[in-house]
Amino acid sequence: MKPTVFIDRTIPVDVEAYIAESCEIEKWDHSEPIPKDLLKDKLAKADGLLTGGRKINAELLEQAPRLKVVSSISVGYNHFDITAMKQRGIIGTNTPHVLNDTVADLALALILGTARRVAELDRYVKEGLWNPRDGEKLFGKDVHHAKLGIIGMGRIGEAVARRAKFGFEMDVIYYNRSRKPEAEEKLGVRYAELNELLASTDFIVLLAPLTPETTRLIGRKEFQLMKPSSIFVNISRGQTIDEAALIEALQQGTIAGAGLDVYEKEPVDVNHPFLKMPNVLTLPHIGSATTQTRNDMAMLAAQNLVSALTGHIPPNIVEELK
Ligand code: NAP
Repeated sequence: MKPTVFIDRTIPVDVEAYIAESCEIEKWDHSEPIPKDLLKDKLAKADGLLTGGRKINAELLEQAPRLKVVSSISVGYNHFDITAMKQRGIIGTNTPHVLNDTVADLALALILGTARRVAELDRYVKEGLWNPRDGEKLFGKDVHHAKLGIIGMGRIGEAVARRAKFGFEMDVIYYNRSRKPEAEEKLGVRYAELNELLASTDFIVLLAPLTPETTRLIGRKEFQLMKPSSIFVNISRGQTIDEAALIEALQQGTIAGAGLDVYEKEPVDVNHPFLKMPNVLTLPHIGSATTQTRNDMAMLAAQNLVSALTGHIPPNIVEELK
């Protein structure tokens, strides 16, 4: 008998067909997330779950006696309660590598967009405000040859560094919990302690995963160390920063601007102060959101799922569950 899997978001037809070769499929095909109680019902009979980022905790696992594997269509897996999954012996997988370039492209888009005020000046033109005498009012900051600090020099961090170094000839330094000698050699980047990075760079990109250690890694003290001209980009997870401290830093001119793809609460509230700040570029968590990359992520997640349910070791078990 084939194992049963539950798929909690729409996936490409070829990915679904691939899973169907080895598994019985039950799925939720609506744009809004599946209600919690219905998910519990579905998981009561499932051997595997393919998820877009649903919180996996002890309460959910209690209702899923047959569950062996949770395969996430994401590289970040902060929605996994590692302790609860370990206790139940659940295999947890993610989708690293295939999205590196796409997310790195978006990091550069946020850097360029904030530095050259792309969204703000797009509105200025479209609202019919273009006045040739505005001159200096439209000036931005140079990205080329500026100094970039990357916090979290992992797979995506390296892809950002490569673009910055070889595309924009930036001076790149990084902070990471472990040194990366290979990246230093290959990319010509330099390791710095966090405080030095914060105080000396023109652009800062946060790319560390959300873990207990990185929760609110960047707060009031860290924003105060940054230069008043610096631009802060967060593309990791909203909870890696203290959002109230960022709002304060922007309001008080402690830093010059921010480019954000992620927020403490998503979708961000319509009345959130960020949405009223012209020097903040706000995107709706679209780091990996291109058609090609999302298809590749879905296929990799499917391969992880199927291999766990057919007696193989999936290629992408998350570090803490190996
Ligand atoms: P990765 O290869 O695992 O890189 C993460 C890096 O952060 C590693 O080098 C790691 O160091 C470092 N790190 C971990 N904890 C740290 C700490 N406490 N202090 C300093 N550095 C720390 O992951 P990735 O594939 O590059 O992805 C990074 C994150 O980007 C994901 O976890 C996710 O949250 C985010 N992301 C967002 C989007 C989006 O749509 N906005 C898309 C994809 C990914 P070690 O080498 O020592 O482990």
